Amino acid sequence: MCPDGSSSPQATSGPIDHLVIVGNGMAGQRLVESLVRRNGAPRRITLIGEEPCPAYNRILLSPLLAGEMEREDLTLRDADWYVEHGVELVLGERVETIDRVARRLTTTSGREIDYDRLVLATGSRPAMPPIPGLELDGVHAFRDLDDAAALTRRAENGGRAVVIGGGLLGLEAAEGLRKRGMTVSIIQRDDRLMNRQLDVTAADLLERELAGRGLEIVTGAQLDHLEDNGRGHVTAALLADGRRLPAECVVVAIGIAPNVALARTAGLDVNRAVVVDALLTSSDPAIHALGECCEFAGQTYGLVEPIWRQVEVLAARLAGENAGDDAQARYVEKPCATKLKVSGVSLYAFGAIEAEDGHEVLTYHDPEHGDYRRLLLRNGRLEGAVLYGDTAAGPWYFEQSLAGRDLSACRQALLFGQADAKALLDDTTSKTPHHQDSSPQEEAA
Ligand SMILES: Cc1cc2nc3c(=O)[nH]c(=O)nc-3n(C[C@H](O)[C@H](O)[C@H](O)COP(=O)(O)OP(=O)(O)OC[C@H]3O[C@@H](n4cnc5c(N)ncnc54)[C@H](O)[C@@H]3O)c2cc1C
Repeated sequence: MCPDGSSSPQATSGPIDHLVIVGNGMAGQRLVESLVRRNGAPRRITLIGEEPCPAYNRILLSPLLAGEMEREDLTLRDADWYVEHGVELVLGERVETIDRVARRLTTTSGREIDYDRLVLATGSRPAMPPIPGLELDGVHAFRDLDDAAALTRRAENGGRAVVIGGGLLGLEAAEGLRKRGMTVSIIQRDDRLMNRQLDVTAADLLERELAGRGLEIVTGAQLDHLEDNGRGHVTAALLADGRRLPAECVVVAIGIAPNVALARTAGLDVNRAVVVDALLTSSDPAIHALGECCEFAGQTYGLVEPIWRQVEVLAARLAGENAGDDAQARYVEKPCATKLKVSGVSLYAFGAIEAEDGHEVLTYHDPEHGDYRRLLLRNGRLEGAVLYGDTAAGPWYFEQSLAGRDLSACRQALLFGQADAKALLDDTTSKTPHHQDSSPQEEAA
């Protein structure tokens, strides 16, 4: 039941009259693009974004900061595209409240917008550590175009920067600032870089490569506070062990916090993010959520790959293409692969990082060429991979892992990449009467 007691809007037939999407970021934009291509799309679509410009490719903020791309390269669609596709675009306005009974939104400018169906695509914001000094001038996040512009301006005069966080985002920010001429230190709480994706050997190779470029990497570091220069500007990062890292610029990149205040105030079910079911529907059947602001089966998101799959599920649903009882039309969780966007560094990782009981570990390491590959297999099936240096086989490994393919037949060639391994696999399947790969599910059935 809806809050006003009426029946679920999912029960009504025919196109939705007015769909409103809150958030013109990567998810909101992709949803609109997918909808305008479909028959049965809502009659009217309004897209509301807090940022002042139409959606851009947020992923490319890293090469933009590094000076490898121009601002125009990030543009997804110009303003004309929205007009041509009949999409009403409201920019530079934040949605402040949702009245679920009246099905009405209010924005910061006082504008009121009625909806028949609502999608929350509000993304997330940088998570902040609970330490003194975050309010000082010179302390930045790295999330949007304004952040990238502010960091670029800051780097113009050189000087010292400290990046808090040695994950993907922190490393990309650090390398961008270094390329712009700053002397950069990275503070990482864990004892290795990218500890959620890399094993010790790969993290060590990465650390040596970045250190060789002049980045100072401080692992196992506990940040205590940021020091004020007495005039409200940051002047150093202080560690719990007393070490002092001078810095006129600090970038906080320790993680993300989903933007859920709007949903929470509206009374929707919210844990870490807005709780949705496999059809991306929130606890109110007239409201959906997707992207970094949603939570499905306890999982939240920080990469676009699962978000693109959410978009397709929700777009089909909003265009009335399925009744929701088709298993294909539901969102299911799948593993993700990780890459780092630092020029000259090639790494690719997915799945389990540490070997567990029952894992067979295959390792190849050529220190001279900086090549490292480590595969974790269980019963011949790939459950995790870390590749550093030559990562060409990464997507193929990932594909095999997703398919649950038994790779026992090419075990001895597996570390040498797709061509060698595939030749052995093809050879085996051609000798088998029925050319079928059996997934674990199929075997169990
Ligand atoms: C520097 C950087 C590099 C990245 N690199 C990668 C990568 O290599 N690979 C990868 O997979 N992912 C990467 N990501 C993550 C990826 O960008 C995000 O997963 C993706 O943008 C999430 O999409 P979203 O639409 O959920 O959120 P966002 O893209 O953040 O969009 C949310 C939008 O909603 C707006 N909004 C929020 N609240 C309101 C409100 N109340 N009213 C109106 N508007 C609102 C926000 O201003 C924002 O524009 C990177 C992120 C950053 C910051």
